[in-house]
Amino acid sequence: MSPASDRGTDQLAGYSSAILNILDDFAAEKVRLAETQKAILNILEDFSSERMRLSETQKAVLNILEDLESEKGKVEATNHELGREVAERRRAEVALLQKTQELARSNAELEQFAYVASHDLQEPLRAVAGCVQLLQQRYEGQLDGRADEFIHHAIDGAARMRDLINDLLAYSRVESRGHTLAPTDAAAALKEALENLLVSVRESSAQITSDPLPMVVADHVQLVQLLQNLVSNSIKFRADRPVVIHIGVEYKSGEWLFSVRDNGIGIESQYAERIFRVFQRLHTRREYPGTGIGLAICKKIVERHGGRIWVTSDGDHGSTFYFTLPDRRDVS
Ligand code: ADP
Repeated sequence: MSPASDRGTDQLAGYSSAILNILDDFAAEKVRLAETQKAILNILEDFSSERMRLSETQKAVLNILEDLESEKGKVEATNHELGREVAERRRAEVALLQKTQELARSNAELEQFAYVASHDLQEPLRAVAGCVQLLQQRYEGQLDGRADEFIHHAIDGAARMRDLINDLLAYSRVESRGHTLAPTDAAAALKEALENLLVSVRESSAQITSDPLPMVVADHVQLVQLLQNLVSNSIKFRADRPVVIHIGVEYKSGEWLFSVRDNGIGIESQYAERIFRVFQRLHTRREYPGTGIGLAICKKIVERHGGRIWVTSDGDHGSTFYFTLPDRRDVS
C-alpha cells in the first residue's frame, strides 16, 4: 500500500470513529430526552390531579358559601320577625298605658263628681228634711190619717237619702282622704273595729275569734273600716243559729291572705261579683237594713292597698270573704 492510500484509510477510520462518537452522544442525549419527557409527563400528571383537588375544594367552598347565604337569609327573616314582634308589643304597651291613664283620669273624674254631687246634695236635703220634720211636729194628728202617712214617708225618704249621700261621700273619700300606708298592727285594727261594733256584737251574742294577726303596711283607719264592714255584715246577714265568726290570716307568696268567715245566710255564687258594686244589694231594706255600699268601699280600700277581695260561700252554711294585702315589710 502506498503512503497516500494509508493516509486515506486513517482519515476514514478517524471519521468513522468520530461519527460513532457522535452517534453515541446522540443515543445518550435521546435517553436523557426520554427521561426528561417522562419527568415532564409526571409533573403534568401531578398538576392535573392537583387541579382536580383544587376544583373539588373550590366546589366545597362554594357549597359552604351557599349554606352561609341561606343561613344569613334565615337569620335576617328571624330578625325581621323579632323586630315586628317587639314593635307590636311596644304598640300594645303604649295602648295599655294610655288606657290605664284614661281609666285613672275617668276614675278621678267620677270620684270628683260623686264627691261634688253628694256634698252639694246635702244642703237642699237638710232643708227638705227640716221642713218635713216641722210639718210633722206642728201638724201630726191635726190633718187626716193619709196626710200623716205622707209626712212619715217623706221623713223616711229624706233619712234614706241622707244615708245614701253619706255613703257616697265615704266611697269617694277612700282615695281622696286616704292616709299614707304605714306599718300597722292588724290585731289592733280588728280590736278597734270590734269596739265600734260593740252594740251589735252584744245584741247578736256573736262569738268572734281570730288568728294572731300580723303587722301589715296599711292605712290604719281604712283597715279598721274594712274589717268593721265585713264583720258587721257577718252579724247582719246571720242565719237562724248562734253567730260564729272567725278572722283568719295566712302568708302566701308575698302577700297576707285575710279571711272573715261566718255561718250566716250565705251568698249564691252568681252574685259573688255583683255585691262589690256600689248600691248593689240582694235583699230589701225591710229584710236587712243598709244602702249597699259597704262592700264597694271594702273593694276600693283593698285595691288602694294593691290587694284583691272576693267571696266564697257554701250555700246555707255561711260565707267567707277573702282579701289580700301585699307584704311590704321593706317599705317602712
Ligand atoms: P249592705 O250591707 O248595705 O246591704 P254591702 O255592700 O255591705 O251593703 O253588701 C251588699 C250585699 O251583699 C248585701 O246586701 C248582702 O246581700 C250581701 N252580703 C254582704 N255580706 C254578706 C254576708 N256576710 N253574708 C251574706 N250576704 C252578704
